[in-house]
Amino acid sequence: MTTWSDLRVELAECTKVGVCPSFWWRDDDLGRQDSRLPLFWRIVDRVKVPICAAVVPGWIDVGIADEIRGRTTISVVQHGSSHVAYCKLTEYPTFRNKKIVGDEIGSGWKRIKAVFGDKAFPIFVPPWNHISPKFGSELEDLGFVAYSSRILTGPWVNSNLGKVREIPVHVNTTRPGAIYIGDEVFLESIVRHLRARRKGLAHPIIPTGVLTHYFIDPVAFDAMEKLVDYVQIAGGRWCDGSDIVNIAANLN
Ligand SMILES: [Zn+2]
Repeated sequence: MTTWSDLRVELAECTKVGVCPSFWWRDDDLGRQDSRLPLFWRIVDRVKVPICAAVVPGWIDVGIADEIRGRTTISVVQHGSSHVAYCKLTEYPTFRNKKIVGDEIGSGWKRIKAVFGDKAFPIFVPPWNHISPKFGSELEDLGFVAYSSRILTGPWVNSNLGKVREIPVHVNTTRPGAIYIGDEVFLESIVRHLRARRKGLAHPIIPTGVLTHYFIDPVAFDAMEKLVDYVQIAGGRWCDGSDIVNIAANLN
């Protein structure tokens, strides 16, 4: 069983061998009003670390856009177009037309840039973590430099979509029913990736990625706040959208 104490030890081991314990935090499904958002904003304001908010262009509500724009720690990335499943849990199945999908993603990106300006980064997060590789050239033509569509538990294997680099996450804190996965799985996933990085078994420049959903069980955010504290004590850091873009540019 992996504990918080194991995390503390692993973070220290990483620092000792010169591996900076860097992280990135992706929160999916933002854009529309929801009664559970005020709690999320309180957490964002308390932790004060960078968070990449995956916003659905088709859901953008003016009030929510203001909440996001008013927070310096939030970077915005694009989460699909309208978050519609064309077939079982994917907005981008292979059978869809390339031009239509390209136009949809393109108008979504235009909207994201218009609303969020320099808080928007060319990073694409497909809903349900899936996009057919067929649409890689559309992402590339639209200027996306990175995409994030995997909860990676094993070694990193190149699955770039052409020139669009993959930056995975390593743990999804949410399980079906918006339930937190629990500290044990949460910590085990994070420690596993940190250990792999320390031992040279994970890609050296990819940060440890953690995925949350603002609507999840608040207990998950207790764990995130605790993680932020542990990372800070260990001298680690959290990547923002600009860091992820730079990492993608240097990822082979
Ligand atoms: Zn989603």
